[in-house]
Amino acid sequence: MKVKKRLFWFTTLIIFIGLCSLFVVSVYFNHTNNHNIARNNVVEITRLVANMHFDDVDIEEFAALDSNIRITVIASDGSIVAESNPWIWGTTNHLTRPEIQAAAVGIPEVHIRFSESLQTNFIYYALRVDTSESYVFVRAAIPVASVNAYLVQSLPLFLAIMLMVAFLCFAVNRTLIDRITRPFDSIINENRINAKRREEFFANASHELKTPLTAIKGFTELTAINNKDETIRKYINSITRETERMSTLIGDMLKLSELESVPEIMPTKISLLGVVNEVYETMSTAIIEKNIEFIVIGDGIIMAEQGHIYELVKNLIENAVRYNVQGGKITVSIKAGRKNMRLVIADTGIGIPDEEQSRIFERFYRVEKSRSQQSGGTGLGLAIVKHICALYGWKLSVESSIGIGTEVTVDM
Ligand code: ADP
Repeated sequence: MKVKKRLFWFTTLIIFIGLCSLFVVSVYFNHTNNHNIARNNVVEITRLVANMHFDDVDIEEFAALDSNIRITVIASDGSIVAESNPWIWGTTNHLTRPEIQAAAVGIPEVHIRFSESLQTNFIYYALRVDTSESYVFVRAAIPVASVNAYLVQSLPLFLAIMLMVAFLCFAVNRTLIDRITRPFDSIINENRINAKRREEFFANASHELKTPLTAIKGFTELTAINNKDETIRKYINSITRETERMSTLIGDMLKLSELESVPEIMPTKISLLGVVNEVYETMSTAIIEKNIEFIVIGDGIIMAEQGHIYELVKNLIENAVRYNVQGGKITVSIKAGRKNMRLVIADTGIGIPDEEQSRIFERFYRVEKSRSQQSGGTGLGLAIVKHICALYGWKLSVESSIGIGTEVTVDM
């Protein structure tokens, strides 16, 4: 079932987008949280070290307890007094460092910056501590990379949880969709069975009706051959015409029923000009008889079923001939646009009154019943055209003026 599949993929996509967003948000918050903890730690450690008595405490030993933390004691002139990292004892003046400047003015704050000495980013915090003779700066620093490492460590766990949740969601989604769509499944199956039954009924009925009609036609033709009486010949002609009309009517009803059962469309590339020429061939006798000028302009390729296009063009041209005047004109224009195709069939016939134009697509609706019947119309032609257009989502419109003509447009 197409709808079920679509629903499943749609909800799966939404779940996927939801989980991905959740993943990104959790990673972001975890990362921010790790940074906040690191900043707090730096502050706490600086305070802890600042409370030490510098003469007694071995600062290198203290910092070695956690290799990630770097502790520096800077003299009031900017030179390094003690440094937990033995490789970076330098002679640079540290008074220019922003965290030292902040501590010097009494507003200590955390700074994240690039360390020239260690060539990596650090989170710094410093405090000014008064000593007996002067003062020093105590500074703690944590490498940013070590904070990021926590995130990298927790990523596999995050991913594992995400995958488990995703798997659970998909399983629940499938079960739910199965349950929700089960009643629709049975309705659709029922509809399909009903459509098939109806199709079978119409096929059987048309076959059953056509058999006696063929027999009647055969017998009438035989009677006509053996009868010279003019009055009886006239009756025979009427019988022949009516049986033909009935046969066409059955055919049209069958076509309409097929279209109503919403067939699976198997579209192929079709040349509209090709179809118009094909229809012209079958109708050339009627066109010549009425001395109609037949003009075709343009061509275009359309994706549809050949049978549907033939039926559509045939019904529209048939009407243009049937309701045309002696010596009239039919213009078929095929205009290929950028995205769609426009087929216009215009005639110079009797026209359709304004108030009737909206009704001509109804089954068996005829403006002039007698004229339509006389010329072999069944009243189903435009209903078939309308159904074909609906099947493909095409727009069908009509413009007509009494005594001037009719123009039917199909936007494909
Ligand atoms: P029919 O088989 O009677 O032609 P249709 O469904 O094809 O049935 O058309 C319905 C009615 O619309 C026709 O009976 C006719 O009155 C009117 N009609 C259709 N096409 C034209 C046209 N080109 N010019 C004038 N009247 C038309």
